[in-house]
Amino acid sequence: MNPAAPAPYAVELVALTKRYASGSAAVDGIDLRIAQGSYCCLLGPSGCGKSTTLRMIAGHESVTSGDILLENRNITRQPAAARGTAMMFQSFALFPHLTALDNVAFSLKMKGVARAERQRRAQDLLERVAMGHLSARKPGELSGGQQQRVALARALITEPRVLLLDEPLSALDPFLRIQMRAELRRWQKELGLTFIHVTHSQEEAMALADAMVVMNNGVIEQHGAPHEVYNRPASEFVARFMGGHNVLRLSAGGKVAVRNDHMRIQPLAADAGGGDGITGTVTDVEYQGTYVLLGVDALDAGGSTSVSVMVPEAAFDSRPFALAEPVHLSWAAAHAHPLSAAPA
Ligand code: ADP
Repeated sequence: MNPAAPAPYAVELVALTKRYASGSAAVDGIDLRIAQGSYCCLLGPSGCGKSTTLRMIAGHESVTSGDILLENRNITRQPAAARGTAMMFQSFALFPHLTALDNVAFSLKMKGVARAERQRRAQDLLERVAMGHLSARKPGELSGGQQQRVALARALITEPRVLLLDEPLSALDPFLRIQMRAELRRWQKELGLTFIHVTHSQEEAMALADAMVVMNNGVIEQHGAPHEVYNRPASEFVARFMGGHNVLRLSAGGKVAVRNDHMRIQPLAADAGGGDGITGTVTDVEYQGTYVLLGVDALDAGGSTSVSVMVPEAAFDSRPFALAEPVHLSWAAAHAHPLSAAPA
């Protein structure tokens, strides 16, 4: 083996397509490479194809065409149990009548591993996730965080190379969700495993991901680090889906995305005509704590458009804007990111 050869990707999808019996492609020829040991989030609105993609990687859904490679091994036609992947589900899906230990040992029992051996391995894993002392408890006697750790141990018992997480946090209340996602991120780094996590929440994906894959209508709109995707959305869909951006039509043609905290706002009369910009009228003033969010009904090259402008609290205090006030909006050229046209 060539020692200089780069490590293979944890997962590679090649022209992967899923067509259900009815209708058009749910996943339409996607290509994706996921680095080893990375936290990858598949993100997009409901119905965009992210769960279908995850289920195809898991082997829970057949592939219409294309290939799935795990560390260079073609697993497209392999049964789920032989792939080297494990799945963690929404709300963790623990068996309520089994102890934490028996939940973790369950898949070994199915494989016919002897009782003493499977209990030893399950106990070892529970120790690893700091749950060894609670192994005799049932899920109902554990907190949400403790249940998550049991679910993680249960997924890890098959010694997967890649852990697949299908909206694991979506059934939790907002406070617990934020705690749990910090814990998932910590475990992923400690274990050094590749995690592929499906979510429809931009905030969750940005908080967790090394690499974020934004999907729409069965295709990948953009793939990159969260700060790249947020700061340089490639398409109008990504800019709108990520939020915090205005999509503006230019007189020269084309569209740009400008973050709402990068919009400059001035009273119309005070504007010295410094470069590009558009005019409008303030329609909303929302106090948000550290900043004030202004809604402006503006006129860009395409006609009327709604623009949001984030003004830091101190700046707003020194020059407040009132409802119905005419304003001038502008932005630095470096803050305007050209958007590609929506894919056909
Ligand atoms: P997401 O996870 O992004 O919400 P899905 O992958 O579940 O999206 O679904 C993608 C598309 O495939 C949707 O249009 C959905 O209705 C369709 N779909 C999903 N599962 C099935 C199925 N078992 N049979 C038929 N169509 C399905």
